[in-house]
Parts: sequence; structure tokens; C-alpha cells
Amino acid sequence: MPEFPSKKDLPNKWLYDYFNPFEVHKHAIKGTLYHGDTGMQEIVIAESSNLGRCLILDNEFQSAERDEFIYHESLVHPALILHPGAQKVAVIGGGEGAALREVLRHKSVRKAVMIDIDKKVVDCAREFLPTFHNGAFDDPRTELHFEDGRKYIETSEDKFDVIIIDLTCPLEGGPSYMLFTQEFYAIVRGKLTHNGILAVQADSTSPVADYTYTAIARTIGQVFPWVFPYAAYIPSYAMLWGFCLGTNGTDPTALTREEVDRTVSERITGELGFYDGVTHQAIFSLPKYLRKALKEQTAVNRDSKPIKEKYPGFRAE
Ligand code: SAM
Repeated sequence: MPEFPSKKDLPNKWLYDYFNPFEVHKHAIKGTLYHGDTGMQEIVIAESSNLGRCLILDNEFQSAERDEFIYHESLVHPALILHPGAQKVAVIGGGEGAALREVLRHKSVRKAVMIDIDKKVVDCAREFLPTFHNGAFDDPRTELHFEDGRKYIETSEDKFDVIIIDLTCPLEGGPSYMLFTQEFYAIVRGKLTHNGILAVQADSTSPVADYTYTAIARTIGQVFPWVFPYAAYIPSYAMLWGFCLGTNGTDPTALTREEVDRTVSERITGELGFYDGVTHQAIFSLPKYLRKALKEQTAVNRDSKPIKEKYPGFRAE
């Protein structure tokens, strides 16, 4: 059994992940590999003792080497498994390249377009986070764009079978809050093919901070006939994290464990670490407090008054 270090041997460098002023998640780090401000956001890449390399943007923890597979497999695979055979996929955001990596595991995918507003995040990922992208940026099926994801989707003539939204939370003053609104989801729906599916990273589901999550689900429900909120526990966030699908009728909760396992083994290259038939059913089975909060949420997020958060899951006003 490992011995707990004596006080004098305890690590002395810490990364503080402020969930809000009253809740801080603290990670021991060996050092900082990169720190810079792109004018759009502050980037930190740190080497943590437990979680490996971590990406932090504007003081918000994005992903960590040791458990990013849980987040990215949860974000990408339910939508792609549900689709009968996605060929064209867009990832909006996703600077680390890990959502793109998971999309490219699907043998049916012919073209994967990733649009991130900040080229510097991708440059940093290329240099410091090789296990996150695992070569995805240079895959011949990949097309990279560096611009605002909303502008790209509004002006592009492409249509996609699946659109994955892997944006930073809609922080006040941040670059992403206009990409969580009803108007934006309507534009996205218009860029999906007939059976197209939307998958969104949808913020915290903590009972003290589930406003954005429930509002995202309600907002997607104004635009798509079917909306399926789901959630997975992410150890580095120390909480259950929300995701949401919008579909034109296909229902992920109707898939059996066997159907998911069979589709994974037929369509995905390599071995997944988190997602399979058992996990699929678990992530779509939300706890009672969340089902209640989702039912009670009536607010719809609109361009005229977009949610701007002070901290993930917490409204600024
Ligand atoms: N896992 C993450 C989390 O916890 O929120 C999200 C992953 S990813 C690092 C978020 C990416 O969204 C960043 O690379 C950021 O540059 C990008 N982004 C933010 N606003 C954007 C916008 N308006 N258009 C496109 N990309 C944007």
C-alpha cells in the first residue's frame, strides 16, 4: 500500500480550479509547460501529479490526460453510434483535438471539419498534448478552420451528418456564449442532413450549478423534435458533467446494450476506454434531482439575452 507522504514531503505547487468562490478543486502540479494570453483567452498547460497534462482556459479546467477519454468518448460516440453511418462530421471548438480523434475512429467518416476560434490552442495542443490529438489534426480526412464557429456554420454551404459542439462554457467575456442560443441551434439544425444529430458539451450538472445544463436542454428542445440530456462523471472535474443530443427522431435510449456493443465493434477502430453498451445505458439514466430540474426549467437561451456565466453552471446575473 502506498504510504501517505509526511507533511514536509507534500507537494508545494498547486493548480486551483475555481468552480466558484466557495468551491475550489486543487491539483498538485509538477510544473507549468505553457502560459500565455491569446487576446481571446488565457491558456495554461500544466503537468499535474495525478492527472498528467492538463489544459486550462480562462481559469477553467478543460481536460486532463488521464481522464479526457471519459469526456471525449461521451461527447462523440453516442451521436455517431446513433447515426446509421455518418460520413461528414463537424466539431465546433475542441481545440485539444481529442473530440476530432474520437470522430476519426469511425470508419464511416470521410470528412471531419473542426472549427476553433483560437489557433493558439491548437498549436499548443500539437506541441504539448500529443496524446490528446494523437495525430488527428494531420489525418487526410481532417479540415481545420480557425474562426468563430457560429460565423463558419452560418456561412458554410456544407451539410453534416453529425455536428459536435465542444466549446468552452458560456463565460461572461469569453468567446463562446453566442453559441448556446436557440438562434444558433436553429442555424446548426439547418446544416444537418436528414437524419443528422447534434451533440453538445452542456456544462455542470451539480445540484448547486445546473442552470446552464437545464437551459441548454430546454433550448435545444425548441429547435429539435427530440432532445436527450445525458451525463458522465469526470474525475478531474470532480463532478457529473452534462451533455445533450438533439435528433430528428432517433432515440438513444431505445438502443440495447448488445446493439451498442455490436455497432462499436463494427464501426470503431481501436479500443475504447469508457463507452460501451453498459456505459451507454448508464449515461442516459440521469439521477432524480436532474430529471426534476430539467422538467422544471422553462428558460430558453436567446440571442437577445444569452446566458453569460460567472463560473461554470452559474449565471452572471
Ligand atoms: N472540454 C471543454 C470544457 O470543459 O468546456 C471544452 C473543450 S475545448 C478546449 C474548447 C474550445 O472551444 C477551445 O479550444 C476554444 O478556443 C474554443 N472556442 C471557444 N469559443 C469558440 C467559438 N466562438 N468558435 C469556435 N471555437 C471556440
